[in-house]
Amino acid sequence: MSRKWISEQLCISEASFTCNLYCKYCHNPPTGRKNPIDFVINKVSEEKPYAVSLEGRGEPLTNPDIIKMIKEIKKIGVENISISTNAVALSDMDKLKKIIKEVDFLIINFPSHIEKVYNSVTSSVKYKMAVKALDNIKKLKALSKVRIFHIISKENYAHLGDFVDWINNNYKDVFLLNFCFARNKGRALKFKKKIIPKYSEVYKYLKLALAKSKLYGIKAVTQNIPLCMIKGFEGFSFEFHRWRRGDKVFERGVEEPLKIKKCSDCSLRDACCQARKDYSELYGTDELESSKLSPEKIKPERF
Ligand code: SF4
Ligand code: SF4
Repeated sequence: MSRKWISEQLCISEASFTCNLYCKYCHNPPTGRKNPIDFVINKVSEEKPYAVSLEGRGEPLTNPDIIKMIKEIKKIGVENISISTNAVALSDMDKLKKIIKEVDFLIINFPSHIEKVYNSVTSSVKYKMAVKALDNIKKLKALSKVRIFHIISKENYAHLGDFVDWINNNYKDVFLLNFCFARNKGRALKFKKKIIPKYSEVYKYLKLALAKSKLYGIKAVTQNIPLCMIKGFEGFSFEFHRWRRGDKVFERGVEEPLKIKKCSDCSLRDACCQARKDYSELYGTDELESSKLSPEKIKPERF
């Protein structure tokens, strides 16, 4: 299925207020404060965006008003709606059927194919429910609506290549695999180096995962990882794709980078997430390396 590239979308972080998991890397944990549905509807009415992403501060599918919210947003004229979810609630086929017809994309936070790792990183015992959700989506032949968000953390990075094998063997038709580097924010601040790895230790595993994705014909991107930390694989970078399409590299809500000389001297900076403040608080900026490579010379991978 071909889908149009969406440059900007309105992220509704008020779509949820609690969560059924407790991910160690959660950078935007739930507040427990429920916003009235009118708050969301007014926000969408004011902006009249082309696309809305329901997400943030918890799990949208734990919100009992979620279907009502989607229908109200559609009444305003928004055509494209996606939900960021951990999918656990979609182990219930009836719930899945109601949700799937209302959205263009399910952006599924799925941190590991290994039960022990999944349960550890999410501080839960819900691995089997999350897998059942993917199986349910597959049964409905709706995997093309799924973007897998695989947050790279200390607990899963050594299994990145195997994760791609697992996706290829079981859920090959997913729309996209997004390897997003965990942020040192929110709940992650409690775990720090225990949950945030170093770019340099992740590199060889990430390269393998990207090479396998390409080999299997599964679209993949990296996100929140500097271009100098994925040498030879820069064409997979989400920020690079945004740059070459003429979009702002930093989506709304993403913190601006740290101003350092290495980045200001670097020819790749406009197409790169650059030095991240949260990451550098843990590991500094020694790993980063200024480049003379022109971003125009980077060959984009499928996106
Ligand atoms: S990352 Fe998402 S699924 Fe995990 S605890 Fe945070 S809100 Fe819940
Ligand atoms: S030096 Fe900075 S701008 Fe250049 S690739 Fe590395 S992080 Fe990006």
